[in-house]
Amino acid sequence: MLAVLNVPTIGEVQVPTGIFVDNEWSASSDNATFPTVNPANGKPLLEFSHASSVDVDRAVASARRAFQTTWGNNVPATARAGLLFKLADLMERDSKLIGALESLNSGKGVRIAAGGDVADSIACLRYYAGLADKIHGQTISHYGKDKFVYTLHQPIGVCGQIIPWNYPLQMWAWKIGPAIAAGCTVVMKPSELTPLTALYMCNLVKEAGFPPGVINTVAGMGATTGEAIARHMDIDKVAFTGSVITGRKISVAAAESNLKKVTLELGGKSPSIVFDSANIKEVANWVALGIFYNSGQDCCAGSRVYVQSQIYDKFVDALKAKAEQCKIGQPCDEETSFGPLISEAQRDKVLGFIESGRAEGARVLTGGHKWAQSNGGYWVEPTVLVDVEPFMKVVREEIFGPVIVAAAFETEAEAVDIANDTSYGLAAAVFTNDTRQATRMSHALDAGTIWVNHYAYLHPGVPFGGFKQSGIGRELGTYGLEAYTQVKAVHQNLNLTL
Ligand code: NAD
Repeated sequence: MLAVLNVPTIGEVQVPTGIFVDNEWSASSDNATFPTVNPANGKPLLEFSHASSVDVDRAVASARRAFQTTWGNNVPATARAGLLFKLADLMERDSKLIGALESLNSGKGVRIAAGGDVADSIACLRYYAGLADKIHGQTISHYGKDKFVYTLHQPIGVCGQIIPWNYPLQMWAWKIGPAIAAGCTVVMKPSELTPLTALYMCNLVKEAGFPPGVINTVAGMGATTGEAIARHMDIDKVAFTGSVITGRKISVAAAESNLKKVTLELGGKSPSIVFDSANIKEVANWVALGIFYNSGQDCCAGSRVYVQSQIYDKFVDALKAKAEQCKIGQPCDEETSFGPLISEAQRDKVLGFIESGRAEGARVLTGGHKWAQSNGGYWVEPTVLVDVEPFMKVVREEIFGPVIVAAAFETEAEAVDIANDTSYGLAAAVFTNDTRQATRMSHALDAGTIWVNHYAYLHPGVPFGGFKQSGIGRELGTYGLEAYTQVKAVHQNLNLTL
């Protein structure tokens, strides 16, 4: 279950391509495989084992055994912390290689993959390692001397985790860190487009000394492997990141099977509000980062910008300049900050959105095409659409590409209305030099994350998740840990008589 891969900047590397259950590799039960493609040139990358429902059953059984014997409440929390710290150390040891694999599979620039994605994933594991032995219940003593009540925060059990392709390793760490710290066991399904780093991590899981069955990984398609997880009768919780459509299907599958608990981190159409007191050049830098980072394939991308009318023209010119300065290039080039989109389908979807914007009357200020040097890869130019109207598809729907729409507003009240005029609510940003205005806006915007005078910064200790259709529950921080525990109330009779 190994393949040899020629990894730019590294050389030939053996990488796992199989199914990881009970700390062992195998082919799928029916020997089926699925292909992946290099998004930078459109050529085949690797074939991976496609996990069938039989493989999912095997992974769940392994996770259940581990939960009941070698994990969960059977080990001290400090032991779980120690293994997570060890895993983070091993990631750090291999970070150059992991970054190169992430870059090759997902198309992101190799410097950002190693310095951003891998480093942030290590930080996330360490954060949760530190929290593992700080999970506390309550003592409830207001019954007096006759009765004593306390709560236990116990691990939920076997967790299915289904992750997307835009941040393959970070989404892996956001899910693994809290689940393992809480004492849960895991059946992880990476995206069929980007399974490489999640599978690489399995070898480090084994090397770190995790007992068999604590972290199992089954790669495969959503409609088969993913569905088998979402409908499984012996999975206690499913944690999902991806599209709203799939989030709905997972909720239905969970409800129709064993009513497993569900947390969802879905998409967004996040607004940035720029008031005329803000520094135009500085704000253009943040807004450009907010939309063009990861080539716009970001659930919290700042994909709508609303600018107070006095500075609108100057601001969109500054944003255009920033868009045109993006370091577009090959993922393996250290200079590259703007790589290709993940797939041909995603590129065509984004180009289709740009066409619909044009057809509905938006003006393309810059970009709007495939990158001229794409050479078989899936780049779309950083694109700014101006003078958009609320009814337009490019304003209402998540594009998930490097396309920002801009419009002007007059008053603070109008800014709140247009910002909140969306079915999403993942993030929003406010740019103003008036602190009272910043506070008013932060309280009025319907979003799980508000950035004031910056964009895009996340931290493992700060909760992240959506209002409205952007999701259910929170990841990261102590809230993210709570999502993997359940509360048990214990009533002790000290002196009660009937
Ligand atoms: P998706 O939601 O289909 O896929 C995400 C994960 O869900 C993958 O692992 C996939 O295999 C799995 N999946 C798909 N169908 C499933 C099912 N029926 N049951 C269980 N699991 C299933 O996302 P996508 O097709 O890769 O991308 C489509 C759109 O989703 C994008 O254009 C973008 O708008 C959005 N998206 C959002 C995020 C985010 O972070 N919010 C991430 C990726 C994609």
